[in-house]
Amino acid sequence: MTAPYTGAPHPGMPTYLGMPSFPAAARAAVADSQLRRNLTHATHTIRAKRAAAVAELADWEQLRAAAKAIKDHTLAHLDTYLLRLEASVTRAGGHVHWAQDADEANAIVARLVRAAGADRVVKVKSMATQETGLNEALAADGIDALETDLAELIVQLGHDRPSHILVPAIHRNRAEIREIFRRQMPDAPAGLTDDPAALAAAARAHLRQAFLSAKVGVSGANFAIAETGSVVVVESEGNGRMCVTLPQTLISVVGIEKILPSWRDLEVFLALLPRSSTAERMNPYTSTWTGVMPGDGPQDFHLVLLDNGRTTALADQVGRQALRCIKCSACLNVCPVYERTGGHAYGSPYPGPIGAIISPLLRGVTSPVDASLPYASTLCGACYDVCPVAINIPEALVYLRGQVVDAKREKIFSAERTVFNVSARVLRSPRLLAAAQRAAAQGGRLVARSGRIRRLPPPLSAWTETRDAPAPPPESFRAWWARTRGTRP
Ligand code: SF4
Repeated sequence: MTAPYTGAPHPGMPTYLGMPSFPAAARAAVADSQLRRNLTHATHTIRAKRAAAVAELADWEQLRAAAKAIKDHTLAHLDTYLLRLEASVTRAGGHVHWAQDADEANAIVARLVRAAGADRVVKVKSMATQETGLNEALAADGIDALETDLAELIVQLGHDRPSHILVPAIHRNRAEIREIFRRQMPDAPAGLTDDPAALAAAARAHLRQAFLSAKVGVSGANFAIAETGSVVVVESEGNGRMCVTLPQTLISVVGIEKILPSWRDLEVFLALLPRSSTAERMNPYTSTWTGVMPGDGPQDFHLVLLDNGRTTALADQVGRQALRCIKCSACLNVCPVYERTGGHAYGSPYPGPIGAIISPLLRGVTSPVDASLPYASTLCGACYDVCPVAINIPEALVYLRGQVVDAKREKIFSAERTVFNVSARVLRSPRLLAAAQRAAAQGGRLVARSGRIRRLPPPLSAWTETRDAPAPPPESFRAWWARTRGTRP
């Protein structure tokens, strides 16, 4: 039995650092039949609901084009809008901090929490703070971070990692959740059942006291409005609203790509995001705050603007489109690869198709896990079709595959390079090509059975270990043409 929940991350809590590459992690994931059942049920349900919600809007494609245009314009003038946001937040009584990387962002938050005289924070679900590993960094500083989103709470209590952008505990079914609550939630009611309403009520009671006593709330943001300095969070449960209204101090960690120029631009995204993410016409809770308002809500507001690789991605002409992402997770729910592997295999807080491009763009393609991610796709294009900001994920995947190859070009096994060099020479020379085809036909006759080659010696065995190869035809097309027409084709 694991130790009772204390609010601090488990000492052995897995991190994303040093994760195995995607193929190794995926192999383990697809062997877990319970995981596959949970994922198939959840993704198919949400996929169908999203399609119905989108079909209600006749101008969906126009909204999509508008969102793409707004984001592209903003990214092209990001320097201007960031400075405008800073001025607006400051004018409204807030404080803006600039964080170049995860360590800097975490250190700023820890310093602000200490300055507020707190050793515990309540958190709104936030991808940016997952990306920076804020909870672990705060724990190392003696500060507890309590996740208040129900699914994030399940993940935290289970000493687990999120596996979906929107539904972090999508890999858990309700029986597993009940078990986590019974083991890790000291105040869970006796006789707790796996009825969803009972589970939600147990979580609500568990969180209530924390909301009322917290001095500091930490959030991310879905959007930040440069014009007014307003920060926007959309959610379904209302826990986020408790975090951003009850504590005296509010710290929002926001990626620099979350900015929108004006309040009016928000309208487009508030139509696209809920339908794409939860298949709702509007989010049940849309919370916005602008600096501080005396006597109402947090009296000390800090906005931490996070780069952490975003300016590098912005400089990449193909990759920069990934910064349009509004983290709706529609691409995860339609992806045949994600459906089978789940999110943990992606070795990043960002799983699925968007994770397969955003993680290498933010972190580079040199680590084994990041170099494997652009290949975690069938390139079927379903992710592009559903993306509300029209990110051409297949294009970015193919482009990143090229970067992976370029990054290790010097290290590519010399035999592989020799094979490609020889192939290039053969394919350039009709005479050598004809000789190679004759040799292949003769060799094929020796090893083929019933027209198929089932086993080849190394290194060609890497191919035949998982598939047959067709035997080369006894006569090539070029040879047949020359024999029957008396000329070269
Ligand atoms: S890439 Fe598009 S579909 Fe995927 S999470 Fe981002 S906005 Fe949503």
